[in-house]
Amino acid sequence: MKQHYDIGIVGAGPVGGYLAAELSKKLDSIALFEQHKNIGIPMNCAGLITPRVFETFSIPKNDIVQNEIIGAHIHSPSGHTLSIGGDRTHAVSIDRTKFDQYLVEKAIKQGTDLHLGEKIVSIQTEKNSVELGTASGKKTECSILIGADGPFSKVRDLCGFPQPKEYLRGMGAIVDNINLDPGYVEIFVGQHIAPNFFAWMIPISKDGTKARIGLCIPKHDKKNPYIYFQNLFKKFPTSSYLKNSKIIEKTGGIIPLRSLSETVKQNILLVGDAAAQVKPTSGGGIYMGLVSANHCVKTINESKTQDGFSHDVLQLYHQYWKKDIGRELMMGMQFRKIFGKLTDADFDKYIQKFNTPSIINTINEKGDIDFPSTLLKPLLKKSPSLLRLLPRII
Ligand SMILES: Cc1cc2nc3c(=O)[nH]c(=O)nc-3n(C[C@H](O)[C@H](O)[C@H](O)COP(=O)(O)OP(=O)(O)OC[C@H]3O[C@@H](n4cnc5c(N)ncnc54)[C@H](O)[C@@H]3O)c2cc1C
Repeated sequence: MKQHYDIGIVGAGPVGGYLAAELSKKLDSIALFEQHKNIGIPMNCAGLITPRVFETFSIPKNDIVQNEIIGAHIHSPSGHTLSIGGDRTHAVSIDRTKFDQYLVEKAIKQGTDLHLGEKIVSIQTEKNSVELGTASGKKTECSILIGADGPFSKVRDLCGFPQPKEYLRGMGAIVDNINLDPGYVEIFVGQHIAPNFFAWMIPISKDGTKARIGLCIPKHDKKNPYIYFQNLFKKFPTSSYLKNSKIIEKTGGIIPLRSLSETVKQNILLVGDAAAQVKPTSGGGIYMGLVSANHCVKTINESKTQDGFSHDVLQLYHQYWKKDIGRELMMGMQFRKIFGKLTDADFDKYIQKFNTPSIINTINEKGDIDFPSTLLKPLLKKSPSLLRLLPRII
């Protein structure tokens, strides 16, 4: 017999797990499908988020937080360094596997049925319900379907939603025997390092000897990201940090950019990476995905009627998240366009130019990893010559 649920969620990543836990507060029957046999594995993430994530979404830090990050050293291609922060905790590095597991365990405790090792391969839509089929042949029916199934979303593909316009390919590793400034992230920019993006080294132990390193490049780049990854160990300025390091585990993954123009169709909603709700400046999707998950929960609760869910009310989800974070994501894409046009000489020039106490203070005071656009106005005020970049970009 087919089982029926109010809500079927595809994908038990952080967004799916959080959604299930929040929806379980008011609804009785929620099914969460995860294709893998273990939650949070494989882990494909640099695991850097702001402390705001823990406060906003009531997640205990416990053993999830590995290290507190107070600043960043940003390196230009020829080795100039801009050091920002140092004043407070701007970010934390997390154990992503434990983070995902905490959220899914909470959902289970609140009554969600977790279907582990079940890959959704077919979706059949009817007037007031959706039938999900798994690779093992199981059929399940639900009143509302949520695609929280990440960058390669099957829900997005099978239900005819638009595709993300751009993808980044990431390649990274957890390394040991490195010697980093423990409270600082190292960021490297430059065409030979990570064209159109950046490379990172994030200390994940309090003594700076263990780190997650990696880089992203646009998916259409001719070279494989692995070539750039190998170069981190061979070429200046990254090689000096990695000369005695040992790779413990390799990671990688895809990041979708440019949030979708449609994220609801009747009783089917997309959230998180499935909807490309990702910050284009950093590729960070955890905070934006969870913010959007809250809008999804709010809309579903509002749509509940005596005999089901109102499809008209469900449409509001798209407006809700757009109103909240749409501008920030759009500004991020604009910034990415500018960033993509910068040459190595530009990076060298601007990293030196920003190295003044007044600009660094402005960055420290106004900079916010989750809302980088808040820095734009104060920065332009301090350095009006940045405006000269605009004609070149246009
Ligand atoms: C290299 C790299 C570094 C990153 N670093 C950061 C960072 O430092 N900070 C940050 O905030 N973000 C970072 N991100 C982005 C972050 O990992 C994502 O934004 C986040 O994981 C999105 O969560 P999600 O739940 O939407 O999707 P996912 O985490 O992708 O979860 C989707 C889940 O759905 C499951 N699934 C997929 N298809 C099916 C199916 N058909 N049936 C059943 N299950 C299915 C998957 O197995 C997966 O468990 C990084 C990403 C990459 C690739």
